[in-house]
Amino acid sequence: RPVLGLESSCDETAAAVLAPDGRILAEGVLSQEKEHAVFGGVVPEIAARAHLEALPGLAERVLRRAGLGFGDLGAVAATSGPGLIGGLIVGACFGKGVAIAHDLPFVAVNHLEAHALTARLPGLLPQGAPAFPYLLLLVSGGHCQCVAVEGLGRYRRLGSTLDDAVGEAFDKAAKLMGLPWPGGPHLERLAAGGDPQAVPLPRPLLGRPGCDFSFSGLKTAVARAVAQGGASHADIAAAFQASVAAVLADRARHALEMVPEATGIVVAGGVAANQAVRAALAGVAGMAGVPMLAPPLRYCTDNAVMVAWAGIERLRAGLTDRMDHSPRPRWPLAELTGV
Ligand code: ATP
Ligand code: MG
Ligand code: FE
Repeated sequence: RPVLGLESSCDETAAAVLAPDGRILAEGVLSQEKEHAVFGGVVPEIAARAHLEALPGLAERVLRRAGLGFGDLGAVAATSGPGLIGGLIVGACFGKGVAIAHDLPFVAVNHLEAHALTARLPGLLPQGAPAFPYLLLLVSGGHCQCVAVEGLGRYRRLGSTLDDAVGEAFDKAAKLMGLPWPGGPHLERLAAGGDPQAVPLPRPLLGRPGCDFSFSGLKTAVARAVAQGGASHADIAAAFQASVAAVLADRARHALEMVPEATGIVVAGGVAANQAVRAALAGVAGMAGVPMLAPPLRYCTDNAVMVAWAGIERLRAGLTDRMDHSPRPRWPLAELTGV
């Protein structure tokens, strides 16, 4: 029977219902971007309240669109961490409520695992689902890490950011140039008219071993370039973007060396929308002779289809969670149980 997926870990309220084979029956995502934009970033308390208002109605509408009611479900999967605790509590409690009311199994989904398993959703990638192990490069506003996906529940973190997430770096750099939040897409548009070579900017950790990331020094350099006023914002944006793309490509190259048996590299997170980043990563994958797998953008960013799918994978493995499972603001992938 169909599985309901719920996502509320950050600033997207999302619900989706999937058939047990992974077919998407209906899905919906409500972005809170407008609510947070006036504050220049996600405000946790506002996010929690917005999820509380939006989630039950959205879940009902999504089910109705699939021609279903809550009583037709076979299981409920809700993101239960990592993320902003208020939103996680809303999603997990609502999910548990549905599960209790209809006597259904409940799956507490790790948001990072959901991103990691998205590529396995049947029919999502034209190349087909990648075989284990593959690499996940998660580049969003809240996360920046590279993970070896070795099996369901078996993840090895190869590297992560020492300071800011890459999407956060885009947003901060954009803000320094007076662009609206979230700044990533605006910065990319601005960079299109600039010369990436006109302003020298650092490329943190480039050429260093491993695959950790660091972006705070780059952000400081952008602040300095903006304050000096010698260069156009378009040139600074282009240089910033080129630096980020070069660093991500360098880190991905190291990750592929660390896991030579990797069958491909999957990119996820909002920064995967950036064309310069995509091109750089595709170049590295091509050199290593493996495919770069980029799910359609709406499945790269936060959505509930990936949560329902992670739930299905776990249910198939016989993994469900108890009703007293507590949402976790921090929940590293390494702490998941493997099968
Ligand atoms: P989480 O980190 O919990 O997954 P999030 O909301 O922070 O959630 P996403 O929604 O996946 O992350 O991505 C948003 C981020 O992606 C923002 O920082 C945004 O600026 C960045 N982004 C979106 N489009 C682009 C782009 N074209 N170029 C660069 N960055 C982009
Ligand atoms: Mg978001
Ligand atoms: Fe996410």
